[in-house]
Amino acid sequence: MSDRIEVRRWSLLLVMAGTLALSACETVQTTQAGAVGVDRRQTMLLSTEQVNSGAVSAYKQTLQGAAQKGALNRDPAQVARVRAVAQRLLPATGAFRKDALAWQWEVNVISSPEVNAWCMPGGKIAVYTGIIEKLKLSDDELAAIIGHEVAHALREHGRERASQQMAQGLAVGVIGAAIGLGSVGQDLAGLVADVTIGLPYSREFEREADRVGVELAARGGFDPRAAITLWQKMAQAGGGGPPQFLSTHPSDESRIKDLQAYSARVMPLYQSARR
Ligand SMILES: [Zn+2]
Repeated sequence: MSDRIEVRRWSLLLVMAGTLALSACETVQTTQAGAVGVDRRQTMLLSTEQVNSGAVSAYKQTLQGAAQKGALNRDPAQVARVRAVAQRLLPATGAFRKDALAWQWEVNVISSPEVNAWCMPGGKIAVYTGIIEKLKLSDDELAAIIGHEVAHALREHGRERASQQMAQGLAVGVIGAAIGLGSVGQDLAGLVADVTIGLPYSREFEREADRVGVELAARGGFDPRAAITLWQKMAQAGGGGPPQFLSTHPSDESRIKDLQAYSARVMPLYQSARR
């Protein structure tokens, strides 16, 4: 009997998923190609609004958790430095999508030994003290990290990853939530946190974020070649068990080669930003 109920439940979910896919599945181009020529079209099952509202909750929860541990923006000078780098990068986002200039960007520093940084959908950034201190980052390298993470948000990789999770039936609660059943907020917040912080992105997403990231850095007047030294430092820091950021951001020969080619391509943008 329980089997039959299970079958019914699954067929209901399949119908729901089918309805949702028919009504909401769209192929989009989230960003302009830029000088780096990133122009892959993306299939989305969730709307930007759904994902971004999930990100607002997930970000708030993360900051509250850090604040309770006394780990939020502990060192004012460090926070000012990180925010100053971000402020120079953000006007460059308009080269990829104009709407990003009006996003509610937020930049916060979390005290944690973790070598990590991320940008949730819609522009909610966190940089961990571990990545700044352990890698002894220059401003150019800090810009390379923030540029890379911001690029994930501009390309809406979180929304795309969440859509892939749904298509694979791994986010069943969200399927119900998206068509008006269940508790939308919490399911989406959990999914957004998962796809931003917890799950590794594909090599393709990483390549796109690397390429868009060097262009953002160059347009902000940061040396785009710092991305190369950054990933070399990352690789060295990986000795003795990879930190989370490394395992989700595979660092290898081909990545360095790609960064060399694309940072060379955006050098004229860097030079004119410096003038
Ligand atoms: Zn990445």
